Amino acid sequence: MSERPVILGGRPYGFDAQPEELFHWPVITKEDEDAAVDVLRRGVTSGTDVTKQFEAEFAAWQGTDYALGYCNGTAALTGALWACGVGVGDEVIGPSVTYWASALTVFGLGATVVFADIDPETLCLDPKDIEHRITARTKAVMAVQYLGHPAEMDAILAIAKKHDLKVIEDFSHAQGGLYKGKKNGSWGDVGAASLMGSKSLAVGEGGILVTGDRTIYERAVAFGHYERGGDLTVDGLTAYNGVPMGGVKHRMHQVSSAVGRVQLKYYDERCREIRAAVDYFWDCLQGVPGFRPHKIDPSLGDMAGWYVPYGHYSPEELGGLRASAVLEAVAREGVGASAGANLPLH
Ligand SMILES: *Cc1c(COP(=O)(O)O)cnc(C)c1O
Repeated sequence: MSERPVILGGRPYGFDAQPEELFHWPVITKEDEDAAVDVLRRGVTSGTDVTKQFEAEFAAWQGTDYALGYCNGTAALTGALWACGVGVGDEVIGPSVTYWASALTVFGLGATVVFADIDPETLCLDPKDIEHRITARTKAVMAVQYLGHPAEMDAILAIAKKHDLKVIEDFSHAQGGLYKGKKNGSWGDVGAASLMGSKSLAVGEGGILVTGDRTIYERAVAFGHYERGGDLTVDGLTAYNGVPMGGVKHRMHQVSSAVGRVQLKYYDERCREIRAAVDYFWDCLQGVPGFRPHKIDPSLGDMAGWYVPYGHYSPEELGGLRASAVLEAVAREGVGASAGANLPLH
């Protein structure tokens, strides 16, 4: 490699000539294709036989009693919130730096999000900024494992327990990741995640809800899974003729659940490979001023499938060099990169 960056007159290294398949996501093999075609040929795209198998396998892998498949992650979050009793007039404390679905689903149920700060290192909900936001209306806390980084779930749960609040985990960025030995999504009362095509666990449009709480599971079924909730009683009400209590339809597409079964089989192995690769990248940058990984201390947890590998940039270590200048230099090497995360929702 040339000693000088391209932007200062050096020769390009040729990063843009890297094999495309290296960066293609998701990894799709003949096994995924066969599973998808089988659903199409059998004419069961709107059935639940494959989805139920996927759910059983997901629950076993997740280590929770229940897993419920969804048409997307936004729907899974809506189901999780309603199952926790969130409704008109309630407040849910959650981060502002996240994908919109972690927050707008709350408004969709007539409740309000009360935004709390994120921690500058983890980029997840800061447990120190929760308690003073609790009011008589607060019903739940929404934690997001942002960009693969686990939230401090033990601290968040302790606060929630003290104030009798439900905890919902949006683990869309960090399926399968561990925090203090326990899987993301398994800490709170309920976990919900997207499984859409660009996520770490990418099965196509789809989502999953996981919980160890039978009541939450049944409420989630009654809310949007009319095809299997017909005789469930929720808050003393039995659904009329299998009508969903939420007036919504949350069923998962079976091409997604079929691909999901295959993806799940190889998921942990692929995550390990990705983490090794991103760790290697950051090891190469060790000692370079200005840059360090957005990564949890390995003694506390892991970065799951490292959904979007991010780094922290400290301009003061490079004489105040602006992030935009760094990005331009990186772009001139033929490498794609961007600064900043999701725009704060507030
Ligand atoms: C992708 C995502 C969702 C929404 O999931 P969809 O499957 O796109 O509906 C929710 N929360 C977070 C944090 C996400 O990244």
